[in-house]
Amino acid sequence: VSESPCYVGVDLGGTNLKLALIDGDGKLLDHRSMPTLGAEGHDAVLRRMAVGIRELAAMAPSGATVAAVGIGVPGMVDMENGVVVELPNLPGHWRQVPVGERIEAETGLPAFVINDVQAFTVAEHELGAARNAETAVCVAVGTGIGGGLVTHGRIHYGLGGAAGEVGHQIVVADGPTCSCGNRGCAEALASGPAIAAEGIRRVLQGFTTDLTRLAGDDLRAITPELIERAAASGDAVAIEVLERAGYYLGLALAGTVAVVAPDVVVIGGGVARAGGRYWQSMEATVRAHSHVTAIDRIAFKEAELGYDAGVIGAARWAAQRSSVDR
Ligand SMILES: [Zn+2]
Repeated sequence: VSESPCYVGVDLGGTNLKLALIDGDGKLLDHRSMPTLGAEGHDAVLRRMAVGIRELAAMAPSGATVAAVGIGVPGMVDMENGVVVELPNLPGHWRQVPVGERIEAETGLPAFVINDVQAFTVAEHELGAARNAETAVCVAVGTGIGGGLVTHGRIHYGLGGAAGEVGHQIVVADGPTCSCGNRGCAEALASGPAIAAEGIRRVLQGFTTDLTRLAGDDLRAITPELIERAAASGDAVAIEVLERAGYYLGLALAGTVAVVAPDVVVIGGGVARAGGRYWQSMEATVRAHSHVTAIDRIAFKEAELGYDAGVIGAARWAAQRSSVDR
């Protein structure tokens, strides 16, 4: 074991495969990003991942060596065994793939696998908006709505690492179908695709909105970002779409807050930005529906680590796990 260990963090995303070399304090020393090309299948993706890990490991500063690799993936994980159970949003077959074992064999480094939102939670807890929190709820809003919990100053992974799925609380009985199979989950009403779909629906129904002009002839141009832009210039339909989505996330978070009573709620991901209509509606809804917790003492904070949270969290988790196993 090196005196000053470094770690490689990997963030396997649907679009990009990101890797970073991170020192023992969580500082990012070097990084790489490449297209995931998931359609080539897991063998090809893991081979490219291993090459990237070896390249970064060779960049470790003199006197330091890479002690372990952490790999964040967007889906279900068997954390104890480093096995990817299922990645529903990645093309190629990712069922029961022993990612940890394969990366260890190809790199010679201990490798640990973690869900990407748990990695985001580790990063925000150790170095970001939830640092020093005794109890925290971390939420990432993007294609889906994932989350993680901090209790007693530590991540609460839960059975199989599945704790913190804030987005899969049912907020509308018999509501729209969710990717998980339920109906009416917050994710089906408040995620990026849900916001875009609601904007598109209103354009198709002939509402008077600037979205029609902004999108031109292409309904696919109606993204959460475009809706936010229209809302910022006062478009009533765009504002309503964002406030509706924020309301449903707020209902889910009101439930979470009542169960967990956190010091802080951290929200990140591309869709949720502090001060936006979505955020304002979400926070107002949580406050309006919280009667059994000291809601005035709960801070709502924007995530701090942004784009790098995934790689940093995966690396920090590898650091924790490898020090436990020693
Ligand atoms: Zn769901």
